[in-house]
Amino acid sequence: MTTSTKSETLGFQSEVNQLLDLVINSLYSNREIFLRELISNCSDAIEKLRFNALSDQDLYGGDTELLIDIDFDEKQKTVTIRDNGIGMSREEVITNLGTIAKSGTKEFFGALSGDASSDSQLIGQFGVGFYASFIVSERVVVTTRRAGAPEDAGVRWESDGKGQFTIEEITSPRRGTEIVLHLKDDATEYADAWRLRGLIKKYSDHISTPIRVPEAGDDKTGRETVNSATALWLRNKQEISDDDYKAFYKHVGHDFEDPLSWVHSRVEGKLEYTTLFYIPNRAPFDLYERDAKHGVKLYVQRVFIMDDAEQMLPRYLRFIRGVVDTKDLPLNVSREILQRNKTIDTIRAASIKKILGQIESLNTDEFGKFWKLFGRVMKEGVIEDHANQERLAKLLRFTSTVDEQEDPKVSLTDYVSRMQEGQTAIYFLTAENLATAKKSPHLEVFRSKNIEVLLLIDPVDEWVTTHLTTFEGKSLKSVLHGKLDLPGDKPQDEAETEAEEKPPVVERLKKALGDKVKDVRVTQRLTNSAACLVADEYDMGANLQRILKAAGQEVPASARVLEVNLQHPLLLRLENEPEDSGFARLASIVHDQAILAEGGRLEDPAGFVERINALLVG
Ligand code: ADP
Repeated sequence: MTTSTKSETLGFQSEVNQLLDLVINSLYSNREIFLRELISNCSDAIEKLRFNALSDQDLYGGDTELLIDIDFDEKQKTVTIRDNGIGMSREEVITNLGTIAKSGTKEFFGALSGDASSDSQLIGQFGVGFYASFIVSERVVVTTRRAGAPEDAGVRWESDGKGQFTIEEITSPRRGTEIVLHLKDDATEYADAWRLRGLIKKYSDHISTPIRVPEAGDDKTGRETVNSATALWLRNKQEISDDDYKAFYKHVGHDFEDPLSWVHSRVEGKLEYTTLFYIPNRAPFDLYERDAKHGVKLYVQRVFIMDDAEQMLPRYLRFIRGVVDTKDLPLNVSREILQRNKTIDTIRAASIKKILGQIESLNTDEFGKFWKLFGRVMKEGVIEDHANQERLAKLLRFTSTVDEQEDPKVSLTDYVSRMQEGQTAIYFLTAENLATAKKSPHLEVFRSKNIEVLLLIDPVDEWVTTHLTTFEGKSLKSVLHGKLDLPGDKPQDEAETEAEEKPPVVERLKKALGDKVKDVRVTQRLTNSAACLVADEYDMGANLQRILKAAGQEVPASARVLEVNLQHPLLLRLENEPEDSGFARLASIVHDQAILAEGGRLEDPAGFVERINALLVG
């Protein structure tokens, strides 16, 4: 029936070749998933058509019964998957089936090890979609025609998955896409009615479009629907098994693995809507990209409206996958309308609460896993989502001087329950890494008084602690900033006012160090070290300066206060140093050591070496 013109051979984008190699080598043992992937695409294509037809009925061209048909031919060794969805134009075929346009592609290929078993884990995370056809096929032929396009705008695509594909224009009476898989000799088992039915039931039951196969029995010529063909999220919870939920997740989440958890709810009242949210069991590749896709699909009365619906959830929940379906939005709702829509605001606020509730209900193991995957993203919530800040703050987990493992386990609630008598603040220290944090001289007095200090090593923690200033009435206080007020000690500023004048060595140090320091004062922080640097209460700390500089931002220079431990032999030596030049040299060393001890970089390292050597040799 089809006539063709103009055949052209084109090469795959190199990433596609890489992906194909990987798919074929690493998914062999799990190859039956090819059908699920292709059906998932058919379902998306049908949903797109239904959506576009809302504003252009003609796209149906009289054919309104949307269907996915699966056929096979045992003799020819083929399996055919057909939909009457949106179809593709020639350009779309070339881009969609010849390139990879996913965000995170670069990171994905960078993360591959060449080891089939670990790479197969990664590939599940990346998703293979259409390219999964080549796990079982030696040749794949796609014919497609875009809905609304004339019959002669059909396209035929063919490839053996080895670097190239051919594409030609054809005349095609049918809208939508048909994929013919020419099975490899070792995959002919799939050209079988029972095998295909089994796979559809197992992986694609939740697809809301009917998936039909030829009726069983030699004398039969009709077709029968194999799947439940209702929108899973609209079914009664009691009727949905865990396996149903998991299978549906793989479709909406484009994931190969089971989700960590899910929450499904229906609200009936002033507004009517259903939400089904999944927490994945692994982080998507693009989790930290600015324009990372959001994973929630919006449906209005079962009609798919859009994915990547960023108005549905805040940015910090961008890893959540799932569906929102409501009767209370118009079918022609656009992204612009969504941006200032009361219904969406209400659904969004309730959705956040549902999801937070689900996270709170995870058991210890699950939560540990969750926090490892998404903790950094959840911290953004503390910064962005004021309405839920308290609830989010309870989810935070940190490493601390009481639990120094890399895996953060200490909650603010744990911390508060362990506070010492008379302790008024929740103390934290920010640093570049855990090793530096643990060794920081700033912790000396806290360790000696058994006061717990949270050790914060995520860059985002700097922002978390500026936005979260109190927890359960206790203020959060940096041990690197300001003056101390610890149980058992006089508050540092009172002690200073009472000591009528500063010890002479302090005055002399201040003079010798000049602009390098904002001030010099007697410390309450140190028990062993000679000196440390402290930022003034409202000045920017060294760690934040480092982070901003690394991000290429200009940072205003702000000198810090040098605190000295008068009991330390080095200070005693300074006190007894009569000569100004000798004093200046020692003062400079004390200052530089304070920088080194907190993991900082010296402005003049060569000068430091010179001064140390002069001491060693002299
Ligand atoms: P994904 O589905 O994750 O985007 P795929 O590699 O499976 O990736 O497919 C790439 C693109 O090809 C899809 O996004 C879609 O635009 C198009 N496509 C695939 N299958 C079909 C189909 N049956 N009908 C229409 N378009 C399709």
